[in-house]
Amino acid sequence: MAKRAKRAKPMSELIEFYSKVCVARSVKFVTDEASKEEINLSESDQFSYNLATILARDNEVVAVNLKILPDKCRIYISKSNKWLNKDTKYIEEIQALMKNLSKDAPMTFEQAAERKDVFALFYNVLEYCSVKLERRLNKLKKDIKNNKDQSHIKSFLEFLESSEINVDNLDEINEPSGKEISKFEYLMTTACCEYYKYNKKNKSYPQRFLGHIKKVGFYAASVMDIINCARKDKYKIPFSCIDLRLLDPVLDEQPISSWTDIIKKYIPIQKSFKNFKTNCLKNKETRDRLNEIYDGTGGQLDCERINYIYLHAELNILTNTDILSKEHNEFIAVSKKCCYLCESYIEFLRSKGYKITVSEGHKKLYHKWKLPDIYSSEFAKCALCDLDQIIESGIEQYTKIIAKSDSDGESADSDNPIRNHVAMKKVTEGAFQIKTNSNL
Ligand SMILES: [Zn+2]
Repeated sequence: MAKRAKRAKPMSELIEFYSKVCVARSVKFVTDEASKEEINLSESDQFSYNLATILARDNEVVAVNLKILPDKCRIYISKSNKWLNKDTKYIEEIQALMKNLSKDAPMTFEQAAERKDVFALFYNVLEYCSVKLERRLNKLKKDIKNNKDQSHIKSFLEFLESSEINVDNLDEINEPSGKEISKFEYLMTTACCEYYKYNKKNKSYPQRFLGHIKKVGFYAASVMDIINCARKDKYKIPFSCIDLRLLDPVLDEQPISSWTDIIKKYIPIQKSFKNFKTNCLKNKETRDRLNEIYDGTGGQLDCERINYIYLHAELNILTNTDILSKEHNEFIAVSKKCCYLCESYIEFLRSKGYKITVSEGHKKLYHKWKLPDIYSSEFAKCALCDLDQIIESGIEQYTKIIAKSDSDGESADSDNPIRNHVAMKKVTEGAFQIKTNSNL
């Protein structure tokens, strides 16, 4: 009942929001340059980040918020999918290790590194994350295979050999199978973790290559960091009592308007719309995305449909726990970079005075993104302006393609209704800006 009452009024606005998210994704997947800044993390924030990394298997995204209190450690964890038995068992094992280590703390890292429970942690982590690790390894192998003669690859291979890794089979790229992994993976993650530490600032290395090394080394790095915290005296009491809460995923079904209906708001002239659609369908990437969102590129684009949405892991923690605060800063560690809409929503909360830090963003738009219940209508209103701009600039890209590929050619004075329409919106905006300034 409550749900229906809440939805009754803003229904059309919400449909517009969700419909435009889908259209924006179809015409423009990445909205802007991804941010490259790395945030400086405190030790406990880094700890949450490590937990998020080792809890994310396959394609899942995991978010973690951890608070060290005088007498305990409180941890919230959420992820995009349902929690399975094997997930909870794995988490219990990690929790048990933290407790065990803290019981015997303080100790040196060398002492910790001789313990059987620490070996078991590394084993569990690599097995649990094996598919993701294989995928990351493949990207690195491709780098090596395609650039064998370059000096950075040669230096990396020499380092691997000195770490007793057989580099002859680095050409074999196997699909991730989820099967038990071999010693090679253990050696590789450990070697990459070390190599990255000493070479991350080397400007002569391609950033992409360094990024791939970093990602393979993540698993060894996370396990090292976790052990390094749990062995310390200062975490002895909090880690002896871990209050861990797993959040259920929040899923919903959302009706949306057809792709055609939304696009026609931007391109009202039938002929121009047809040209635009033809160009979209000619582009393989766009066609794939339309298929993914609308289940087809035929009549499906003309029909209203139900979109299956879910609350992204970081927003689930932010809006379904008690952590949202205007006094204390809260850090949410996410196993993947924050998406465009999550970043916008968090920015919106900050504008309301809430103090939140999350990992950096990658500016991608996802069509299954769900609005949190808090401020949903107010945020949707703000986001709609941004979505309009994203869609317009996406349309503009295709319009340029039309202009180029148009066999009639095009002179400066020929009429292009689509481009004029987009340009006019800018004029309106500019005019409005002047008006606003003059009122100041
Ligand atoms: Zn997101």
